[in-house]
Amino acid sequence: MTLSRPGMERGGLEMARADRADIIIVGGGPAGTTLATLLKKYAPQRDVVVIEKCSGPRHHVGESLQPGINPVLKEMGVYDDVVRAGFPRKIGAVFVWGKNRKPWQNIFKDANKKALADSEAERAAVVNASFQVRRSRYDEILLRHAEKCGVRVERGAQALTILEEGRRIAGISLRGADGRIREIRSEFVADCSGQNGFLSKYRDIRKHHPGLKNVAGFAYFKKAQWKFRYTGYKYETKIFICSTAHGWFWYIPIDQDLISIGFVTNAEHARKGGAGIRELYFRELRKCKEIWPLLKNAEQVRDFDGTGQDFFIQNDWSYFSVAASGPGWLAAGDAAVFVDPILSSGALLAHLGAQRAAYTLLTHWTEPTESGRALLWRDYNEFNREFSARFFAMAVFWYGNDRNTAKWWRKAKDIQRAHLPVSLSDRTAFITISSGLSQYYDRLHHEDLLKEEYTLLSDQDFYRDVLKGDVEANPGRGIPGDRLVPRFLFPIQVEPALMPFYGKGVMHTARRIRFLKHPATDALEDVFNPRRIVSPHHLEFISGIDGVRTFSEIRQRAASRGVPEHWLRDRSLAFLKELALQGVLKLRAKTRRTSRR
Ligand SMILES: Cc1cc2nc3c(=O)[nH]c(=O)nc-3n(C[C@H](O)[C@H](O)[C@H](O)COP(=O)(O)OP(=O)(O)OC[C@H]3O[C@@H](n4cnc5c(N)ncnc54)[C@H](O)[C@@H]3O)c2cc1C
Repeated sequence: MTLSRPGMERGGLEMARADRADIIIVGGGPAGTTLATLLKKYAPQRDVVVIEKCSGPRHHVGESLQPGINPVLKEMGVYDDVVRAGFPRKIGAVFVWGKNRKPWQNIFKDANKKALADSEAERAAVVNASFQVRRSRYDEILLRHAEKCGVRVERGAQALTILEEGRRIAGISLRGADGRIREIRSEFVADCSGQNGFLSKYRDIRKHHPGLKNVAGFAYFKKAQWKFRYTGYKYETKIFICSTAHGWFWYIPIDQDLISIGFVTNAEHARKGGAGIRELYFRELRKCKEIWPLLKNAEQVRDFDGTGQDFFIQNDWSYFSVAASGPGWLAAGDAAVFVDPILSSGALLAHLGAQRAAYTLLTHWTEPTESGRALLWRDYNEFNREFSARFFAMAVFWYGNDRNTAKWWRKAKDIQRAHLPVSLSDRTAFITISSGLSQYYDRLHHEDLLKEEYTLLSDQDFYRDVLKGDVEANPGRGIPGDRLVPRFLFPIQVEPALMPFYGKGVMHTARRIRFLKHPATDALEDVFNPRRIVSPHHLEFISGIDGVRTFSEIRQRAASRGVPEHWLRDRSLAFLKELALQGVLKLRAKTRRTSRR
């Protein structure tokens, strides 16, 4: 075992004997607590340790949450505690942007109606609204809950360095609350340390997005006014996003009489101005016609959350990790990826990324084969890249274009393409992505797929059995890598993949299909698309529909192949429509006959 250098000070401090754990999680924010709680829930025998450097509740930015988080809170068993804390309910967002100062809004339940029309009522209710939170309280609720679930939490302890065995991370050294430096060895180290990125300095994984280098200044106000058009009611709040000439403000009610107001601007602009972000903040605030009048009688909070500060500055440089896991380690939340806060996606990515990390690790612990485990972690890296890519694409488009609202909505539809039902409007697609609900389509679809029986075939078996006709028809051509151009359908790439079985804490093996034909599906921003994960059964079905021209022909063909009814009734049909939309299948629209009498 070797001790790595950066940041290590053994000094005169006494080294205590090493402790052991199954996993050490560095950071007790939303990512760390989600990972810890879910691991403990599904594998109570595992020793899960969270190291949190703050000894008590701590101030943090990131107050406006998305409803997509709620089901994760439910799975963790902490949703009711969050409700009981009485945070303002958040029902959507209001934007005033650019020259057109007419406010427009996105209300979560508008997306929800369609998104979850066929799911149980309880789940729908849970994603109608989210919360706007004082993060010191919210994060404390999560951390206490993790403790209650049996997670070993060390507060006031700071992770200092990693321990390595060859290339594998095998533990950490830390400075405990008592000031002593000691080691904990573990099978895994999870970096959930937020923007600090405890592990990124050892693994050189972080890459900043060149186009999204912003800085934020923010403060808290009492006696600020509420205006229904911008903030909603006190019991049904909205986040208000308002542009100015040099950036944009957030206006977030985080309590009945407490508003968080932040200003985001280009880091270069803030630096060149020479005035400093604080001065720039107040200068822009006074010029903001929508927000300034609301602050007529407002008082800036002097010592917020016991920090002794009345103003906060936060680097807001978006970044991603070239890998979110490696031998003996994984990263989740801000430690893995951070996307500009324009869509308030940070906490969502933290909760959902950590949920995925938990599912991956739980399956790793039961997976007997090396190749199966490698597939799990490759898939975890993919998930991180693809899930955050949606938000990167939205932010890049917003900052880089003319900020035309309708185009932004269109972009939301484009980047989710096959992911959402074809009939969804651009606007609903936007609401869906900005409320963190798009993955619920994945979820519904996954649940359908999981009713099917899965066997993980080897690649060769897969091609031979499932794509038999094609391979035989092109004997000389072979299969270049895992890319293949079937004679009968369209260019696809087939690869092994995994899908989570929500509520069970396991990942199931599946096949992922990438359609290569449409440019949108091939772009860098191509998103995690559940409809491209199909069971061999489904693949066989679509492979047999070459030449058919109408849905009724598809139905007949499916019936002759014994395809289950539910495939055709719901999602399968939507999937086929999707293919038609992408030009993959040619379907003749059925003319509707209406009686004139
Ligand atoms: C300007 C700005 C505005 C934002 N607005 C929003 C918003 O409105 N909505 C939203 O959802 N998100 C927002 N975010 C993003 C949000 O703040 C983060 O995405 C979210 O907090 C990530 O959670 P996390 O658990 O990954 O990290 P964190 O919440 O940062 O938690 C990391 C924890 O690790 C601990 N830690 C760090 N280093 C060590 C160490 N060496 N040893 C021990 N402990 C350590 C820290 O003390 C901390 O408690 C915003 C971000 C910025 C920059």
